[in-house]
Amino acid sequence: MPWPSDTQRKAIRLAVSFIAPYRWRALGALLALILTAGITLSMGQGIRLLVDQGFMTQSPQLLNRSIGLFMLLVLALAGGTFARFYLVSWIGERCVADIRRRVFDHLIELHPGFYENNRSSEIQSRLTTDTTLLQSVIGSSLSLFLRNALMVIGGVVLLFVTNPKLTSIVVVALPLVLVPILIFGRRVRGLSRQSQDRIADVGSYVSETLGQIKTVQAYNHQAQDRTRFAATAEAAFDTARQRIVQRAWLITLVIVLVLGAVAVMLWVGGMDVIAGKISGGELAAFVFYSLIVGSAFGTLSEVLGELQRAAGAAERIGELLEARSAITAPAQGEVQLPAPVRGRIEFADVRFAYPSRLKSPAIDGLTLTIEPGETLALVGPSGAGKSTLFDLLLRFYDPQQGRILVDGVDIRQLAPETLRKPFALVGQNPALFYGSVEDNIRYGRPEATREQVEAAARSAHAHEFILEMPEGYRTHLGDGGLGLSGGQRQRLAIARALLVDAPILLLDEATSALDAQSEYLIQQALPELMEGRTTLVIAHRLATVQNADRIAVIDHGKLIAVGTHQQLIATNGLYARLAELQFSEG
Ligand code: ADP
Repeated sequence: MPWPSDTQRKAIRLAVSFIAPYRWRALGALLALILTAGITLSMGQGIRLLVDQGFMTQSPQLLNRSIGLFMLLVLALAGGTFARFYLVSWIGERCVADIRRRVFDHLIELHPGFYENNRSSEIQSRLTTDTTLLQSVIGSSLSLFLRNALMVIGGVVLLFVTNPKLTSIVVVALPLVLVPILIFGRRVRGLSRQSQDRIADVGSYVSETLGQIKTVQAYNHQAQDRTRFAATAEAAFDTARQRIVQRAWLITLVIVLVLGAVAVMLWVGGMDVIAGKISGGELAAFVFYSLIVGSAFGTLSEVLGELQRAAGAAERIGELLEARSAITAPAQGEVQLPAPVRGRIEFADVRFAYPSRLKSPAIDGLTLTIEPGETLALVGPSGAGKSTLFDLLLRFYDPQQGRILVDGVDIRQLAPETLRKPFALVGQNPALFYGSVEDNIRYGRPEATREQVEAAARSAHAHEFILEMPEGYRTHLGDGGLGLSGGQRQRLAIARALLVDAPILLLDEATSALDAQSEYLIQQALPELMEGRTTLVIAHRLATVQNADRIAVIDHGKLIAVGTHQQLIATNGLYARLAELQFSEG
């Protein structure tokens, strides 16, 4: 039996830390566990009494007493098992809920860069599969382990107490019986895991082929698919057949070895009974204990296998919990923004490269000041670094060099929540979440009244189309706002931004052409949205650059020129070219 390794100890420690809040229930479970193990073991003594005093003495009174005692033990065993099962499973489920919540609460605070190195599907599987594995450990395996360990220890002690001579025989014979059974058992388990993989192969092959059924039939590919599917299905059968063979042998082996061992014991013990060296009851108790020790041993080895798998799961969850956010409030000297926030923004010699591309900076020595209430349009070729400026302002990343100031305060001296409060964001592909239209508009200000929501929607020119939806403001949006046009999504995002009424607005205009109606309505809504706010807009529309106070031309992370549309057309070649390409509608 492999002894707990480092990762297993770590897993147990993690489990213990999650069980700790429920220590009284855990203690209750432990007591119930000890009680039931004790009762099961004492059953052997009951059998001895029953045989020796009830049957042998042929006394009805003694038999009555013995059976009465037996029934009492049965009731106590039933009650104890109820308590153990309930408490242990309860703790398992409770801990998994706690683990899931703790992991999620942790993940949602991590800096966005974390998710570039860790695929979210992988993280999702940790949240579901790995926590389920842990649940099985906390909710059953740990208790199985303890119970069977108690049974083995108690059983061996009682074997010695009952009959040392026979016990020595059992101790020598036990490995002979168990080792072959364990080896076969392991092989069967391995094969059944393979068998499950094969079945998963069959499943994915079917969904892939049927999902592309038109392509399959258009190319008359059915015959090849039949052949390939047949091979997959046959492979699954082959693995299953091997498993069945091993399993059949396992069953045969168990019967022969276990019952053979019992026969040998009965023979040796029976001789002693005949010779009058031991009583019949002792022999019966002895057989009972050896069966208990044997099966507890078998269970222990299986449980250890499961503990190993769960240790891996716990390690992965532990890693997630240990990941630290790169964006945090300063450890000391946290500052507040002056109230009310006026919205002056200053980039001072900012240099930033994404962690995955440290060699080529996305922002390269940029210095730029935006005055309160000003509308500044950011213009530049794709990949110039415009969106990166938004990310830096919201502190999704920290620049490697230079400072960013909001109302004169270095944003690194602020807690991220404090910094983000005065910002409203309208993205290019606005994110809509599972929930109703109303919930989505209220996203940044959950306490807003229905009237306020509606007022914001009216200003964003979204009210009309919302009313046309089946349930108006209560209409549920599908996953990610499915079923809304790009223009409608952007107007919902504008309503959301209007509702939070923040002094600084970050706006990323949609690059893709919106339908003319939406385009018109959005242009109508923008002036009110920008009114009285510092606005940074990544511009793709002529109207936007014409209405902006200033335009900043960005290229390769550098500020190339700043000025009005007319000035830049006259003086800046890059801008003139971009204007011709991007704002050609003018
Ligand atoms: P723009 O918004 O002007 O089109 P971006 O700010 O999105 O430009 O990108 C600036 C540069 O940074 C580009 O070269 C882009 O490929 C790179 N970049 C953007 N996001 C990431 C990221 N998450 N990881 C690595 N590089 C990135």
